Amino acid sequence: MPKREETSCQECGDKLNGRRDKKFCDVSCRNAFNNTLNIEKAGIVRRINNYLRKNRLILKDLKARYPEKRACNVHRSQLTDSGFRFDFYTSSYTTKQGNVYFFNYEFGFMELEEDRIVIVENIDEKKRA
Ligand SMILES: [Zn+2]
Repeated sequence: MPKREETSCQECGDKLNGRRDKKFCDVSCRNAFNNTLNIEKAGIVRRINNYLRKNRLILKDLKARYPEKRACNVHRSQLTDSGFRFDFYTSSYTTKQGNVYFFNYEFGFMELEEDRIVIVENIDEKKRA
């Protein structure tokens, strides 16, 4: 018979007796542990998803003000005032000229000089090539 090791509950730290593979005192300690884990994991994903979703909506709203234009040009503060996060995006696209567009789903932006931002919708890369 294998030697019984003394372990402690992963949730409350109490000493555990009984089966070697036991990790928790009881169901309530196991549930508490798993709930905390899930909340932490979900929290990271949810926070980043929220940034991306919010960024997309801000770009969409600004672009919608210029429906006739393929690209609109706004001031940086129009994005930051709404809580835009420039450090979160879903993809990037570099043009042949070396300009970089950062996309939040189908809406992209490119930073110009003097705090100007160009916003585009759904660039068809094949047409641009
Ligand atoms: Zn416990």
